[in-house]
Amino acid sequence: MASSLLRRGGTAVGRRWCSAGALRRLVSSEAAPEKAPVRSPPEIPPFEHRPRPYFGMSGDEILEKRKRFLGPSVFYYYQNPLNIVEGKMQYLYDEHGKRYLDCFGGIVTVSCGHCHPDIVNAVVEQTKLLQHTTTIYLYQAIVEFAEALASKMPGNLKVVYFVNSGTEANELAMLMARLYSGNLNMIALRNAYHGGSAGTIGLTGLQTWKYPIPQGEIHHVMNPDPYRGTFGSDALAYAKEVEEHINYGTSGRVAGFIAETFQGVGGAVELAPGYLKLVYDTVRKAGGICIADEVQSGFGRTGSHYWGFQTQGVIPDIVTMAKGIGNGLPLGAVVTTPEIASVLSQKIQFNTFGGNPVCSAGGLAVLRVLDKEKRQAHCADVGSHLVNRLKELQQKHEIIGDVRGRGLMLGVELVTDRKEKTPAKAETAVLFEKLKGTLSICFSLGL
Ligand code: PMP
Repeated sequence: MASSLLRRGGTAVGRRWCSAGALRRLVSSEAAPEKAPVRSPPEIPPFEHRPRPYFGMSGDEILEKRKRFLGPSVFYYYQNPLNIVEGKMQYLYDEHGKRYLDCFGGIVTVSCGHCHPDIVNAVVEQTKLLQHTTTIYLYQAIVEFAEALASKMPGNLKVVYFVNSGTEANELAMLMARLYSGNLNMIALRNAYHGGSAGTIGLTGLQTWKYPIPQGEIHHVMNPDPYRGTFGSDALAYAKEVEEHINYGTSGRVAGFIAETFQGVGGAVELAPGYLKLVYDTVRKAGGICIADEVQSGFGRTGSHYWGFQTQGVIPDIVTMAKGIGNGLPLGAVVTTPEIASVLSQKIQFNTFGGNPVCSAGGLAVLRVLDKEKRQAHCADVGSHLVNRLKELQQKHEIIGDVRGRGLMLGVELVTDRKEKTPAKAETAVLFEKLKGTLSICFSLGL
């Protein structure tokens, strides 16, 4: 589940962020919670799996080594970070065998459950047979997977490039948009996240994630955010602003437009209804390609649709995906039309690991599990129950400013003042910490 309670780099409430260090300070001092009546934490249901005894390093040892040997940008949640040693379906186990309901899913990635037997089996069998060769040789796994993935796409979106991550997928999509259109300018949304590489950092519209490097001919337009956006849910007003931006801020011709239909890192923000249809028309008239970033909202997570863009009744020209596609395997993909895909035949486009036999076998198993176990319907069921319960809480608690989203792409926004929508930073930090300790839930969020 995604929520805007916390986001990467520490915490974000509303559109403000604080670092992991600042988060810890908030929890420990500034936001000393008022003494509330102590309630015993709810029990999580019994579960058959027995975790193996753990003889590895303690959390403290790992933390010490991380500090010495990993780059300082790695961060952790909670004052005392969790040492997770095993996962089974919806549960995680720490070094002491304590079980947690995982509402995080490996940063919205574990779409079928931890160590799902069908996926583990597909990966293990392929690994025993042939782990890697690259696409310079023929192998079955990649074409089987590409065919299955293409069958999930609408329209003429039938050609797949495999990569290793969401960032790589968006890099490739932007390259194709520029080559195909012959233009340079990209349009992206404020509050979007599309990656952290030198190229995609420019597409990302959140200052917390952006280093001061050349951002590369990218224009950020107003975010059609129904809760906080200037025009509320008025899609037409936001779309007009895009048109004006193209007319006044560019040569009038653009390479493309990219958006997540549900902004994940930005806090589970569903774009104003009808927005994509209007903007896709405008962008196409200006010679651009429309890209849907489905890294978080794809593979049925929204419950109502398999792809997020379908909730807005559009067909993009390019769709990028990662995370849920592999249930934890390093896998990403770009799906487009044969015509757009052909722009990359002018030079050599090669990716050593993209679609390698093991990832392809695992990815195909994921698609099958999603269908076999009706995971999309499951997201709709569980998500609608959760959102209704959260809305009930909203009725009772002034601090809950907004409850939003669909399926398991949900957001809860805490505010100190509902009218001003002032981010309740300190309270969010306290709640986040408490959800770990008392509810045994890694309540977490759209990264
Ligand atoms: N797009 C979106 C919508 C994402 O949420 C993310 C990751 N949070 C990315 C792209 C980048 O994916 P990755 O971390 O796999 O490079």
